[in-house]
Amino acid sequence: MRHSRHSMIYSLGGFSLAGLVLGAVVSYPGWGLALGAGLWGVLQARQYNRLMDWLSQEDDANLPPEGDGPWGDLLDQLARRHKRSQTRERELRAVITRFQQSTAALSDAIVIIDSHNNLEWWNRTAVTLLGLQARDRGKSIFNLLRDPRFIRYYRKLQYQEPLQLISPVNPDIHLQYQIDRFGEGDRILVARDITRLVRLEQTRQDFVANASHELRTPLTVIRGYLETFLEQEMPRPLQRGLSQMQQQARRMESLVTDLLLLSRLESTQHISDEEPIGIQSLIAQIHRDAIDLSGEQGHRFELDIDSDHDLVGQKLELQSAFSNLVFNAVRYTPGPGLIEIRWYVDGKGGHFSVRDNGIGIDPVHIPRLTERFYRVDESRSSASGGTGLGLAIVKHVLMRHGAQLTIESRSGKGSTFSCHFPRDAIRRLNDGDSADQSRTARPEAPASPECSSTQ
Ligand code: ADP
Repeated sequence: MRHSRHSMIYSLGGFSLAGLVLGAVVSYPGWGLALGAGLWGVLQARQYNRLMDWLSQEDDANLPPEGDGPWGDLLDQLARRHKRSQTRERELRAVITRFQQSTAALSDAIVIIDSHNNLEWWNRTAVTLLGLQARDRGKSIFNLLRDPRFIRYYRKLQYQEPLQLISPVNPDIHLQYQIDRFGEGDRILVARDITRLVRLEQTRQDFVANASHELRTPLTVIRGYLETFLEQEMPRPLQRGLSQMQQQARRMESLVTDLLLLSRLESTQHISDEEPIGIQSLIAQIHRDAIDLSGEQGHRFELDIDSDHDLVGQKLELQSAFSNLVFNAVRYTPGPGLIEIRWYVDGKGGHFSVRDNGIGIDPVHIPRLTERFYRVDESRSSASGGTGLGLAIVKHVLMRHGAQLTIESRSGKGSTFSCHFPRDAIRRLNDGDSADQSRTARPEAPASPECSSTQ
């Protein structure tokens, strides 16, 4: 620009000098000088107006006007910059178009949500799967996805596990929602159509449920006959064979019962008939059954129960989950080992835990323990009479109650299995409630919150 400024001064000087010389020729040098400078000013004003006309154009496809002298330099520079920015704009447009084409081709719905939970952008699949429309831009996500489970999931900010729900626009479509955070409080929501997977899973569950159901009657008949035969006098080898058959028939019956329970638990994601379950009497009952199971092994039991708080949930399911944990502790702890059962409440929620000083589990097995039929040691668990489904049942019951299972264990050092329930599943017993409960539902509940029982 320094170059242009100098050129401007030279050009003004040139015009003024020419005017002065011409004025001197006709004996009016002053007028000549003024005329030269004035002409220079008119030419500059013309160039300036042409530039302003170009700048005020709506369509920026045209190049700047051409000019002479110093204006020529300036307009050339502008033309070069203009071309550069047009090329950059074309490149950016191409990137955006490619991005839009690729996201439109995705079969997953993608939604960008800003830090105020408002909808910012979404792809074409979000229109079909979630029913988003152009007029929804800038609206709150909660106006469109109103399911309380989605709202809870969204607000919890813990997105490690995806959420499965039906589509808000089509009840036949099952969606899996996954949220990730980026930028400053922005979120990206991906909704995947998993209808086919859900149907396959349903077929599998139906098959297991039907097969288990069909096996029940023949098993009852076999067991009934075996019992009758075993009451008769018979040669020793035959009696041994029959009693082994009876033992295996019992095992098959427990397997069928557990399979049926598991498929019932899997058929719905959440419990609908929850009620305060009277946890003290429930634990007392499980304690009695565990003493029976321990039999001559003589395990020692310690109970530490918070008597001020009850748990809200589905009683039979929770009974099944808690007893699985306690019975496992008995089965995998050589007598007379120690088994501690605790129920306590803290700021995070309610916790039921079973701790034993038995054989323990090598930590490599822990992540897979809740899989169906996963066993740490096949020979040991068949000897213990387990079905291999106990912890899978526990996991499903807890999932349906919004609770979590944690397992701490080391080989040879015993194990602790804990169930963590959310705060909204806990009910504080006021004086009236506790009195009521102790009359009706707590015949064997320990008298003090902390008590120890040794068999
Ligand atoms: P099972 O019917 O075989 O006991 P579960 O699902 O209840 O099946 O348990 C899975 C496996 O976890 C068991 O086979 C056992 O190896 C291990 N396990 C469960 N509870 C305990 C425990 N308290 N101590 C040691 N091992 C345990």
